[in-house]
Amino acid sequence: MAFLFESFEEWKNYSVKKTLSLHAVVSEYEREQKDRTDLEIYNGLLKAWGVMKDAVQTGLQENMTSRSGMINNGAKKVYQHNRTVLSKEFQNLIARALAAKEVNSCMGLVVAAPTAGASGIIPGVLFTLQEIHGIEDEKIIEGLLVSAGIGLIIEQRASVAGAVGGCQAETGSAAAMASGAIVYCLGGTTDQVFNAVAITLQCMLGLVCDPVAGLVEVPCVVRNASAAAIANSAAQIALADVSAVIPVDEVVEAMGEIGASMETRYKETALGGLAATRTGQMIAKKVLIKDIAILPDEETL
Ligand code: SF4
Repeated sequence: MAFLFESFEEWKNYSVKKTLSLHAVVSEYEREQKDRTDLEIYNGLLKAWGVMKDAVQTGLQENMTSRSGMINNGAKKVYQHNRTVLSKEFQNLIARALAAKEVNSCMGLVVAAPTAGASGIIPGVLFTLQEIHGIEDEKIIEGLLVSAGIGLIIEQRASVAGAVGGCQAETGSAAAMASGAIVYCLGGTTDQVFNAVAITLQCMLGLVCDPVAGLVEVPCVVRNASAAAIANSAAQIALADVSAVIPVDEVVEAMGEIGASMETRYKETALGGLAATRTGQMIAKKVLIKDIAILPDEETL
């Protein structure tokens, strides 16, 4: 296998033909491509899972204030708030996705899954899933392998980078990866997993990348939380066999087409959308002044 697969259909056909589960196919790809043993793959993912869980805890326990001031312990505020909108589980899900992403915005250690900008989604989703369903780490690792497979195909057929395909590519891909992992970990079929990916992406299509002051903070952090919610909603829909109607491969194609036609100002250039608002511009100026103020004096160079 030179690349995992060109399409979700190929992944499914290969898995049926070889009577391998979805995660085992990704393991096979990892073994062949990176010359790693199953144990090495497992241990690597276990380590990544540990970093994800640590990021959630760090974001909920430590001071998360970014240098720009735009990030100011939002995750903790949500986690501790006494007014619950739906359920404590939902509140925790949102707080955890925010927490891991805030760690990234405050320059802490995260797993780029698939990118740093979207690094709160999979940790928030899987941490909460594991807690609610008492899922073993082994199964979560299988879910991460399935996530990786989903991300690899999206990357090849569309993009996972905001600078290439807008935020749909970044937070959208992460949400699709998370949704597929939820369905897989809960015993869903291959069709249900891929349907979850299709539904998630349908909900994220067209989302532009417009970070204020060019910093991966606003709206990135809150988008991680909403993407985590969409991942769960899509998983719930897919598990009930409600069809996405448009097959997953066609949805990914649509995402690629939308990304390619998106204007440059919506691709991480901080020239459009929220970044171009009056407040966004004002913050960008303040951040620039702060940056200049901390530059070393020419004479000291
Ligand atoms: S807005 Fe841009 S930088 Fe922020 S998460 Fe989305 S893609 Fe990444």
